[in-house]
Amino acid sequence: MKHNPADQLIRDRLEPGSLSIEGFLGTDDRPIADIIAADIGEVEAAGYTAEQLGDFLEHLHVTGDGGWEGRVPMYDGKISVRSDETLGQIPCPFACGDACHKSIITVKDASGETLLVFTPLDAHLISAHGFFEGKGSAYRIEPKKLISLFRRCTSI
Ligand SMILES: [Zn+2]
Repeated sequence: MKHNPADQLIRDRLEPGSLSIEGFLGTDDRPIADIIAADIGEVEAAGYTAEQLGDFLEHLHVTGDGGWEGRVPMYDGKISVRSDETLGQIPCPFACGDACHKSIITVKDASGETLLVFTPLDAHLISAHGFFEGKGSAYRIEPKKLISLFRRCTSI
């Protein structure tokens, strides 16, 4: 991500108590651009793009929403998704103009083990901004974990 003068504004929006109670940075005090560069580096080293992984999460999210708070099997039953909605929307902290509805999406494997928990905003942040959240953030998605889920589902 290129340096731009709006970086401090974005950082402020990512801090706890601005757009969300917990914020998006956890205990990570690296510059936002460094957090993004490190995660994108890991994703690209594995042969993928952040956009590809974010779009995959968006697909799980949209499918989960279609289940009306029931669990929906996907990828030949390798996983199932369920979206539990709460009221309201959250604007993108990068101020790109997007807003996502609030929901918690849980991804489980066939045995019922939880593989991943994420929000619609996570899918957008990864796809549009390459941002997986800071270390220690409640909703940080480790690139390694997402890559492993993506491979398991798509065999790409
Ligand atoms: Zn955005």
